Amino acid sequence: MNNKTVLVTGGGGFIGSHLCERLLAEGMDVICLDNFFTGAKDNIRHLLANPSFELIRHDITMPISLEVNAIFNLACPASPVHYQHDPVQTARTNVLGAMNMLELARRLRIPILQASTSEVYGDPKVHPQKESYWGNVNPIGVRSCYDEGKRCAETLFFDYRRQYGLDTKVVRIFNTYGPRMHPNDGRVVSNFIMQALMKKDITIYGDGSQTRSFCYVSDLVEALVRVMNTPKSFSGPVNLGNPQEFTVRQLAEKVIDMTGSKSKLVFRELPQDDPVKRKPDITLAKKVLKWKPEVALDEGLTWTIAYFSDLVRTRNRNHQS
Ligand code: NAD
Ligand code: UDP
Repeated sequence: MNNKTVLVTGGGGFIGSHLCERLLAEGMDVICLDNFFTGAKDNIRHLLANPSFELIRHDITMPISLEVNAIFNLACPASPVHYQHDPVQTARTNVLGAMNMLELARRLRIPILQASTSEVYGDPKVHPQKESYWGNVNPIGVRSCYDEGKRCAETLFFDYRRQYGLDTKVVRIFNTYGPRMHPNDGRVVSNFIMQALMKKDITIYGDGSQTRSFCYVSDLVEALVRVMNTPKSFSGPVNLGNPQEFTVRQLAEKVIDMTGSKSKLVFRELPQDDPVKRKPDITLAKKVLKWKPEVALDEGLTWTIAYFSDLVRTRNRNHQS
C-alpha cells in the first residue's frame, strides 16, 4: 500500500478513526467516509487539518464514485444498542452498503477488506471459534439484522471474488475496545467504565458467567493493515481478536478495582440470543499475518479508563461553565 489513496468507510467511528490515523502515519492519503450515525467528528477532528486527509459525509447504502486504491469497509453500527435502534437500516448498511463498496472496487479493480464479526458464529457450539466453523445464528432474532447482515456481506465478498476475480479480504473481528468507543453505546467495556466513573451501579446482564475476549484497538488496527497487505490469493475469512477469555463478571471486578470505584454490581436480565462463550482461535492470523495481540487487558483498560476519565472531566467542566 505505498503512495496510495485509501478509502475507510466508517472512518469517523471508533476503530475507523484509529485506522485513518495509522494509514496517515504510513504516508498514505486517506478518504474517511461516514454518515456519523454512531461515529463522531471529534474522533477525527485532529486529522482535518492534515492535507492527506479528506472527509466525506455519505451513507454507503447509496452508491458513490471515487478514485481510490484500496477500500476498508468498516461502516456499520457495532454495538447491540445502536444496531438494534434501526434494524432495517443496519441490514441495509450491511448488504446494500457492502454491494455499493464492492461495485466501486470492481470498477476500479482494487482490493477491498470487509470488517466482519465474531457474531457470524452466533451463540457458538464450538469453542474456541475457528474460521471453519459455520456458526449457530438465529435468523429471525433481534441480533439478526447485524449477524445475518454480516453473514450476507461475507457471501457477497466471496461471490465477487469467484464471479469477478476481485481481491476481497474478510476479517472476523472479536470484541475490540479502547479510546473513542462511544460512551453511551451500551457495549460492556464502555458501559462498565462509564458506570464506575459516574459512581453508578455496574449492570451485569445475566449472572456474568458469559465470556468474551477483549482486543485492544491498536492490536486490531495492526492486523487490519497486515491483511490488506496480503497477496490477492488471501481472502480470509480470518479471525482477529485477543484469545484471552474473561467472564463478564471478571471484567466488572477489574474495572471497579482499576477505577477505585465504590459502584456495586447489579444483575439485570440477559438480552435475547446473547452468546454464552466467545474466544477466537487465531492460529490462521498468526501464521499468515505473523501477528498476535501485544496489549494485555490490564494495560488496555488503563488507557481506556484514562480516555473516559478525561471525557467525564470535560463534560463536568462544560456543565459548570
Ligand atoms: P462504530 O459504531 O464506532 O463505527 C462505525 C462507523 O460507521 C460509525 O462512524 C458510523 O457513523 C458509521 N456508519 C454506520 N452506518 C453507516 C452508513 N450506512 N454509511 C456510512 N457510515 C456509516 O463501531 P466500531 O466498533 O468502530 O466498528 C467498526 C466496524 O468493525 C463495524 O463494521 C463493526 O461491525 C466491526 N466490528 C467491530 C467490533 C468491535 O468490537 N468494535 C467487533 C466486530 C466487528
Ligand atoms: N453486558 C453486560 N452489561 C452491560 C453491557 C453488556 O453484562 O452493561 C454483557 C452482554 O450481555 C454480553 C457481554 O457483556 O454478554 C458483551 O456485550 P457487548 O454489548 O459489549 O458485545 P457483544 O459481544 O454481546 O456483541
